[in-house]
Amino acid sequence: MIASNPVLESPPKITLGITETCPLRCNYCYADCAHAPKQGELHEAQWVDLIKGLADQGVIQAYIEGGEPLAKPGFMNILRSATPVMMTLLRTHGIGLTHDVARELADIGLGRGLVDFMGADAATHDYAAGTAGSFEQSCAAVRNLVAAGIPVDVLTILTTRTAPQLSAIAKLASDLGASRIGVLRLYPLGRARHVWSELALSMNAQTAALASLQCPSGLGLMQSWHPNDHNCCWQAAAINAFGRAIGCMYLRDYVDFGDATETPYYDIYRTNPLYQELRSGNVEESCSSCSATQGSHGGCRSAAYAFHGRWTAPDPFDLGLNRGTDLTQLPPVRPRVSNQEGENAHDLVA
Ligand code: SF4
Ligand code: SF4
Repeated sequence: MIASNPVLESPPKITLGITETCPLRCNYCYADCAHAPKQGELHEAQWVDLIKGLADQGVIQAYIEGGEPLAKPGFMNILRSATPVMMTLLRTHGIGLTHDVARELADIGLGRGLVDFMGADAATHDYAAGTAGSFEQSCAAVRNLVAAGIPVDVLTILTTRTAPQLSAIAKLASDLGASRIGVLRLYPLGRARHVWSELALSMNAQTAALASLQCPSGLGLMQSWHPNDHNCCWQAAAINAFGRAIGCMYLRDYVDFGDATETPYYDIYRTNPLYQELRSGNVEESCSSCSATQGSHGGCRSAAYAFHGRWTAPDPFDLGLNRGTDLTQLPPVRPRVSNQEGENAHDLVA
């Protein structure tokens, strides 16, 4: 063991993956989204109840994503239930995020918007989204949110297609009025597994792409590669579209900590052994530079499990911990686990 992570009694913030419905058809959608709602997704009233319970348990921030949250029936009412009691962030691709929708989001009290771009131009973005016209709608969404007074982050996942365009995406973000750009890793989740060989970059190529990124003055940059490789499990909480507690959306294919509609999240957080283990910072190896900047140890547990099959393994996206792991090779499918004793999630939910 290297060191421990900070310890919290309860999660201060949570990610709500409120639907796996989306009008787009992105070729690397982690949620494997469909145009129609999937069976078993929580409905509006269940989300409102959950949010009330989470606020009562001390959660003060909700990061709402999907799927496309704006496609969720009753989304505005769900958001309306959260804004009086939590800081809210909305991750969207911006389809249908018109001036009027942005105004309504502002009136409800949305704290921040995060809009995904899969390229700096329509050809690159629309190809990845599988939908003509989606680039223009994402651009309009940023403009409309900014005009409504909502601060915006532009997000982009680093792939073979976005790497050559990183600086252009940053310039676009700045020109549209965004305040920050977040560059995210490509994870072997959902449909991304089907296009891994087409989109995944080697460790060196990722490092070179980040080094080449030129951000316009005034645009903030968020990225989680060395020396910013954090193990944010220590403060992570998430509920998927079906009400299952999964800790983090990047763990969506690997864990199932229980039904958050039946058991208070707070109790799941405190009692599930695997969840506790992931938060502990109990890892085989840490990068001292990243630990110093982030105050946490070992980097991402999802990436560690995906590539090495061990929860305690080094994060292969960290330059100092990669040790020759070929990130362009699709890792095997890993079992979904419920607790540290290796109980299979299928046994619990079947
Ligand atoms: S916009 Fe997001 S949720 Fe929709 S298909 Fe693309 S990746 Fe999936
Ligand atoms: S799985 Fe990775 S991204 Fe998710 S909370 Fe843990 S360290 Fe952070």
